[in-house]
Amino acid sequence: MTGTNKSLEEQLEELLGDDANRSNPLYAPLENLWATHRDLARRIDRISRISDAYQSLTKEKEQSLTERINKQLRQLSKVARISDHYQKMMHDLNLALREASNHDPLTGLGNRRLLLERLKEETERARRYSRPFSIAMLDIDRFKSINDEHGHELGDQVLVEVSRVLDAEVREQDLCGRWGGEEFLVLLPETGLEKAAQVMERIRSAIAGLVVRIGEDTISATTSIGVAEYQPGFSYSDTINQADVALLLAKRSGRDRIELAVAAS
Ligand code: GH3
Ligand code: MG
Ligand code: MG
Repeated sequence: MTGTNKSLEEQLEELLGDDANRSNPLYAPLENLWATHRDLARRIDRISRISDAYQSLTKEKEQSLTERINKQLRQLSKVARISDHYQKMMHDLNLALREASNHDPLTGLGNRRLLLERLKEETERARRYSRPFSIAMLDIDRFKSINDEHGHELGDQVLVEVSRVLDAEVREQDLCGRWGGEEFLVLLPETGLEKAAQVMERIRSAIAGLVVRIGEDTISATTSIGVAEYQPGFSYSDTINQADVALLLAKRSGRDRIELAVAAS
């Protein structure tokens, strides 16, 4: 045997490498054992290398999976933001469409469709709770001659100005809208005939005081108004007809005035 600071492997290599030891009966089994040991060591080495490689591969896979998930989460939150944005746009668009379908583009007032909707609701309420409401039909006097003398565009301007006065003068609970052409309808909830006549007289007088300027010229307009109170048991169309009849009477009686419908019996 050589120095004790040599490793076991080195010592065995030395012993088996020395031909003088071949006659020793332990030589052959030791040589076998040594060969088996080296084979095992090689296998263990291979297995641990494979295991190391596998571990680092799994780690890489885990990392790339986390990255992919994070990326998908970022994409998802982006898609959610875009979807929120579109939903808001759709909501705004719906509101704008609803507004456009219920309003007159020239004057900005509610149109006949909106007025009819509110009239139905008001009639229902009046029936259910036995509450009064009144309707006023308002028509600009001799509007055709305003158009004829000053042009259609200026006629439009007069319509807009009259609408402004109407909108400013009606009470908060009232609704005024453009019934068509130069005709407007005012719905006065919780209002009997006399009170409605007072409100409409104030409106008539405000419109009569309106002065529309075009360059050097000025135009003023008057209105005729028919007022009717809803009669229980009748439809709102009946009330509109009664207001129309009263309006016709106002026209025939000289215009720029209010007439009240005679209650149906
Ligand atoms: P009355 O006092 O009897 O109501 O006479 P009027 O001239 O006002 O009534 P008429 O029904 O003869 O004429 C209404 C005019 O209103 C005719 C039409 O061209 C005009 N008109 C209707 N809608 C508009 C509009 O949007 N713009 C303009 N500029 N004119 C309109
Ligand atoms: Mg008219
Ligand atoms: Mg008319």
